[in-house]
Parts: sequence; C-alpha cells; structure tokens
Amino acid sequence: MTESVKKKKPVPDETPMMQQYQSIKRDYPDAILFFRMGDFYEMFNEDAKTASKILEIALTSRNKNQANPVPMCGIPHHSSNLYISKLVKQGKKIAICEQVEDPKLTKGLVKREVVRVITPGTVLEDHLLDPKSPHYLASVYIGKDGTGLAAVDLSTGEFRVTEIQDSKSHHLLADELNKLDPREVIAPESILNEEGSGIQGWGSYCLNPCEDWTYSHGEAYRHLTDHFKTHSLEGFGCEHLKNAISAAGALIRYLRDTQKSALQHVNTLSTFNLHSYMWLDQATVNSLELVKASDGDRNHSLLGLLDETCTPMGARRLKEWILKPLVDRTAIENRLNGVTVFHDNLMDRNDLRSHLGHIYDLERLLGRISLSACSPRDLTALKSSLAVLPEIKQTLQRCDSKDLQRFIESWDNLESVHQQIDHMIVDDPPYNLKDGHLIKPGCHEQLDRLKSISRDGNQSIAALEARERERTGISQLKVGFNKIYGYYIEVTKKNLDRVPEDYIRKQSLVNCERYISPELKQHETEITGAEEKILALEQELFQQVRQAVAAEGKRIQSMALLLSELDAMASLAEVAHRHQYTRPSLKDGNELRFVNGRHPLVEQIDPANPFIPNDTTLDCDSNQIMVITGPNMAGKSTYLRQVALITLMAQIGSYVPADEAELGLVDRIFSRVGAQDHLLKGQSTFMVEMNEAANILNNATRQSLIILDEIGRGTSTFDGISIAWSMVEYLHGPDRIGAKTLFATHYHELTELEETLAGVNNFNVQVKEWNDEIIFLRKIAPGGADKSYGIQVARLAGLPEKVLKRAHEVLFNLENSEYDEVGVPKIGRSEETPAATGPQQMGLFATLPSPLVQKLKEIRPDELTPREALEKWYEVLEILKDG
Ligand code: ATP
Repeated sequence: MTESVKKKKPVPDETPMMQQYQSIKRDYPDAILFFRMGDFYEMFNEDAKTASKILEIALTSRNKNQANPVPMCGIPHHSSNLYISKLVKQGKKIAICEQVEDPKLTKGLVKREVVRVITPGTVLEDHLLDPKSPHYLASVYIGKDGTGLAAVDLSTGEFRVTEIQDSKSHHLLADELNKLDPREVIAPESILNEEGSGIQGWGSYCLNPCEDWTYSHGEAYRHLTDHFKTHSLEGFGCEHLKNAISAAGALIRYLRDTQKSALQHVNTLSTFNLHSYMWLDQATVNSLELVKASDGDRNHSLLGLLDETCTPMGARRLKEWILKPLVDRTAIENRLNGVTVFHDNLMDRNDLRSHLGHIYDLERLLGRISLSACSPRDLTALKSSLAVLPEIKQTLQRCDSKDLQRFIESWDNLESVHQQIDHMIVDDPPYNLKDGHLIKPGCHEQLDRLKSISRDGNQSIAALEARERERTGISQLKVGFNKIYGYYIEVTKKNLDRVPEDYIRKQSLVNCERYISPELKQHETEITGAEEKILALEQELFQQVRQAVAAEGKRIQSMALLLSELDAMASLAEVAHRHQYTRPSLKDGNELRFVNGRHPLVEQIDPANPFIPNDTTLDCDSNQIMVITGPNMAGKSTYLRQVALITLMAQIGSYVPADEAELGLVDRIFSRVGAQDHLLKGQSTFMVEMNEAANILNNATRQSLIILDEIGRGTSTFDGISIAWSMVEYLHGPDRIGAKTLFATHYHELTELEETLAGVNNFNVQVKEWNDEIIFLRKIAPGGADKSYGIQVARLAGLPEKVLKRAHEVLFNLENSEYDEVGVPKIGRSEETPAATGPQQMGLFATLPSPLVQKLKEIRPDELTPREALEKWYEVLEILKDG
C-alpha cells in the first residue's frame, strides 16, 4: 500500500450543516446541544462524549476516514424524554435545537434554532417533578449591605423574593436555601469564584454561574418591569430592596434565555420577609424530621404524618406551612379556625375531601398550558377539575361558618374557562397533539366540511374497491393504505393475468403485487389533502383554546391557592380527628404549658405499646430551663422533640398531640440533636456540635425555644461538662438570653445548676429496678436522676464482674466529692460565685489558730539540736491543747 493511500483524507471545509451546528453551539457553550436531524437528535464533539457516557449509548464518529473525525452520538426524537431526564438528573443543561422549517418545502439547508434550554431547575416534564414538592430554581445575589434571594417554580408560576439584611446573612441564606430545596441555583460568577462564599456546599442543587452584569441593579430592574409590564416594582413590595431586585431580575432573564417563551403564568412576584415566619435553621429542620426523616423517607417525617391532602397542590402548601410556621397570632388563629370548622364537621369534611379528590394539579396544568408544553389531555383534566368547583362552593356554604367566608367571597367557578374547553375539545382526546381528533364536531364550519370530505373519501375508496373487483373479476382484490406508498390495489399472484392495463405496478411482495391506478391516485389526493388540512386546522384551533385558557392564568392560580389552603386545612383536621389532637390556645406572654403531651411520630410506631404522655411547663422566669437526666433509652430525646413539635404544630395552625396546650408564641426553635449527616462534609461531630451551639447562643432571643440534647458529649468529660455548664449559665436569666430551654444530659453534675441558678429545674425520666432489670416508666418527674444506671446497662452487656466492681468504687468516689470546702458544687466554682455564708468546713491552714502559726514560723530546724526540736514540739502541742 502506498503512503498516500494509508494517509487519511485531508479535512474538507466543514459542510454547511456542520457550520450551522458550530454557529449555534457557540451560543450555548455550557449546554449539551441536541441538534435535530430528521427523526434524531444528534450530538457532536465533547457533547457527544459526555452524553454517550451518561446515556450509555454508542459513541461513533462523523467522517471516520478523514484526519479529524468528529465524535458523535444520537437519540431518536420520539424517545428523547427518557434521555433528557437522565442528563438533567446529572445536572446537565440541554439545548434543544429543532428544524424550524419544513424540509419538504425548503431547498438546501433547513433552518434550525434552539427552542428551549432544559436545566435541572426548569424542567416541566411530569416524570421529572415531584407532585408533592415545589420545584424551585433559585437565584442568589450577595451585596455589600445584604443578600437577595429569589426563587421561581416554573411548573406552577410561583415567583418569590426576599432580602436578608442581617450581617450574618450567610447562615440565614443557607437556612432559607435548605428550606426551598431548589434543584438549581444561579449566582453571579464572581461570587461563585470567591473562596468561602459557601453556596457550593449548602445543598444538593446544581449551581450555574451567570455573568455579573445580569445582576446589576439597572439591568435587573429593567428585566422585571419589562416582564410584568409595570413602571415600577412598588406593587410587588420590593421597589427598595436592591439586592432582592438583582436576584429576581437575573432570574427572569435566565428564564427568558432558557425558555424562549413569554412566561405568561409567572405573573406576579411576592416579596416575603423572613421575620414573618418562625426561624428554623437547617439543623432544626433536620433534627425534628420536619419534612424528611433521618432515613430520608418523607413518610416517616412530620409532613408524612400530617399530609392527608387530596391534591398535589394541597400537599405542597402543607409542606410550606410546616417549613414556615407563623409568628402572627391572628394569622395562626385564622388558620386554626378553618381547621376547627372541618374538625368539628365530619360530613362536610368528607364531602370537601371527596370533591378535592377529583381535582388535578391546577397549578402545574396551567404551567404547561402557558408554556405551550401541554397535551390535549391537560386541557380536559383542567375542564374536569373546574367542573367540581360549584360543588365545593356549595359544601363551604353549607358549613355556614364565618371562618370560611373569605373563601366563599373570593370564589370563582371559572365557568368561562370550563366552557371554552368544553365547547371545542373532545371529551377524550389523544395524548399527542399530532394524533388529531381533538376538536368537537359542530364548532367550526370549515373543519366539519373537511371532515366530511375525508369521510366521504373513505366511502368512495370502498366503492372503488367494489367496482374494481367487478371490472377485473378478481374477488380478492383489495384497496389498502400505507405511509410510504399511500393507497394501492393489491392483487394476489394467482390473479395477475387478470390485472388491467391501466394499473401501474408499485411494489412486489411474496404472494402479491401492489398497483395504483389514475382513479385511485385522484381519490388519494382529495382524501390526504383534506386530512392534512384537518390536522393543521385542529392544531390551530387547539392553540386558540390553549391561549385563551392561559390568558385566564391569574384567575386559575387564585383558585388553585384557595383550593390548596382548603385541602391543607382539611388534612390537618382529618389527622387531628384521627389521632385525637387538641386545639392549642394561643396566649400573650412566654409560657408553654402542655398537659399530657405526646410525640406525634413516636406514638404512631407501636400501637400495642401505648405512648406515655408527659406535662411541660416552661416560661422565662421560674421555669426557664429544664435539665433532664435519665438513663439511656429512658425517653429524654423523645420528650425534648415532642415539646418542640407541639409548639411548631400549634404555630402552623394545627391541632396538637396533648390533652391541653397553651402557648405564648415562639419566634425561633433551635434544636441540637444528633449530627451524623455532617461527617461526610469533613467536619468532626464535636465541631458540628459547637458550630450549632454557637449559632444558638448568637441568635436565640427571649422568645425562642431551645432544645439541647447531650451538648458537650463529643469531647472529654471535663471539657464537655464545662461547656454545657457555661452554656446553661449563658442561656439563663433575664440579663442573658433568657430563652426557654430543655437540656437533656447524661452528666449528672449538671443537676447542680439548679442549686445556683433560679429558673433552672431538674427533671428525670423515671425508671424502676426490678429483679436486676431496668423498667422504663417514661414519666418525667421533678428532680435529678438518682443514678445513671450505666453500670447496670454495662452488666447487661456482659462486662466482666471485676470491671463492674471497680466501676462501682470509682462511682462512689466521684459521687462523694462533689462539694468544695465552702459548700459549693466543685464544678460550679468560678470567680463570680458568691462567697458561701453557711457553716464552713475546716481547712488545713486557712483555719489554723494564729499563735500556732506564729510558733511554727519561728522554728529554724537547721539551728536546732535534737533535744531542742523535741522541746519545740511539746510547745506546739501545748498551744494546740489550749486552742
Ligand atoms: P439516649 O440517652 O440513649 O439517647 P433517650 O433517653 O434520649 O436515650 P429516647 O431516644 O428518647 O431515649 O427514647 C428511646 C425509645 O423509647 C424511643 O425510641 C421510643 O420508642 C421510646 N419512648 C420514648 N419516650 C416514650 C414515651 N413517652 N412513651 C413510650 N415510649 C417512649
């Protein structure tokens, strides 16, 4: 083989199609470009390498035999959803580039354009969305004087923004992002490049940088006012929130760039203030298992327990309520009143819930309808949901309660929207728009006419078949149709001698031949012409209905909000009824008083072992801090959590698991229980514990509720006790933080705090010893635990008898040296500890009589003979005898 043959051919100039590809790709460098070619989406170069790996499809190459073959892979257009979802789950962006001209009508290269960029935060496909959770795309802007945070759920159109003006805003931002749980976060690239901005590590979202200028105030402001077609942002309550505007404006721009559509359903921006809700930090949301249990399961969380909603909208609303408990008493009372109506009224509750069960996800239906991503069935789902609205209104009216008046007053049966769909769209349309058969007969004259041509055409084909059978004498002659050849006449091989001359052969099969005839061709042109026109006209009419419905987006969204609230309230009522919860009563002041409180989740675990209820009284005075001791497994953590959960449930407007519950509102709940999940982030358990403790001490107020479980456990005993002790002192009293605190500990030394700090009270979880076994009574009683039972538990575990015996001795020693010489607990001693006034114990030198000290000081041992030394000793004894 000669050298020239062995060499690959030189690279020719790029084909026009590849030039087109390159020029489109230049605009989407960070996305995988799905380049439509016929029935396939093709990917090239690095995109092809990345996608083929993730999608597990073959990587081939274009121009294999040339010097620089182009890596490529492809997926069929009709199954692209599956592949898109795989890529999106890996955090990839996908730019969908379609042929925007009909290749049949185009000479040369067909025009192509990117019609949408799909990113993890902007997916609309049902199978990529969790019906019970919002799907947020968030935008962060960290300015000099605060932080802007905006979030949009494109699937529903919800758009919200806030500004965090606190100097410690990074904590607040992390907490808020944790609650939003966005799938994607965008931020200015300079912030993301900055060391320690932190945004990278706060969640499982995918992070996408945007050019800094998109966050400039002027640019962002212009984008928002352009989008909402307003002169200012006054109406949205954020005109003066510069950082919030930067975050929201950049977000709208990003949506426009990726969705390439008008975003009609993103029709309002709600500005919210973090202080309008109870502050729950990330550790608290996790440790109280509010929306996800420690095993990751939603069903085992508080949300899982309280969620008996009938619609996905209701489920999402309830999740929001749980993550954002209220701090305004009137707002809580309003919600509780609504829950009470449905709690007390079983029939109406059942009626409401059964009607709600027929309502689809209006918010997400509207999202798809507005973004022209809807199927004909989305419209009929909307129609059938709207049909139930009058019945729900009647149910609400029947309840005859002033607490439901605001729902009735704002009610809108959306009849016009229902009629628009009902008038045009058939009751059972196909899923796919391209399958036709969408429009009802009788509502469009031209369409009806075309349909009759098509119908008659089919009849005329049948007549032609009969005529041809007669003319040729071939009784088995058939007229058939396929997509490639259109209509044809089929004659079996044994009848070929009877085929007339005007038949034109088109295709030979094993047993037969297929022909066309001039007459058949004529029929075909008429029929297929009519069918193509029908399809095009039906699609046009469908789009008209879609647009008309989308134009009513605000009305539909308002009703969706009302329905979601009703659903969430009815769900709380249902759960309250099922588990015998009580309506909490909200009071002024700071007292929490629960009678026979229960842990809502633990009480569900084993119905055969009834949960033991316990009382709680906490305030900012004589009952400020409960120090709770008790053996392992006694129920300390359960009690701590139950107090926090009852408080939180009351402030979301729910009934609570207690016989009686009275509470003054709490502004923040801090919960420090367990820290395992941070180990993966490279922090030690103790470091995490201390970070969280610092967060509490820096941010708790007198109105807060703090639960601390075994603080200081992660270090040496003395260090742990010291830290725990000083934390309680810091939390205690009106001149310090003064927050209501529950403190569970295994350090019995901490029970001595009760003796030095008014407002600190000891409690223990009771146990009984019986036949060398421990029986857990689960009752909280005043006083510290008398024993830790650690050694008993160790015996159960099989520790050698010798070790246990020695452990008892050591324990005895420890327990008998707790007080110092002035009667103060040793570990509590400090410079601030007031001098003891009670009887003093004898010390070695401090209490010696002074003549004796004088005598001893005079002695010069080196100058004395043995005899003189003996005489001095007798003198000392003499003084002692007198003294
Ligand atoms: P440790 O000190 O080892 O962390 P603990 O004292 O915090 O233990 P918990 O974890 O609260 O104990 O409770 C142990 C188990 O006891 C719980 O999982 C629960 O099943 C049960 N339990 C706790 N409190 C009660 C109660 N009041 N009624 C019935 N069962 C309870």
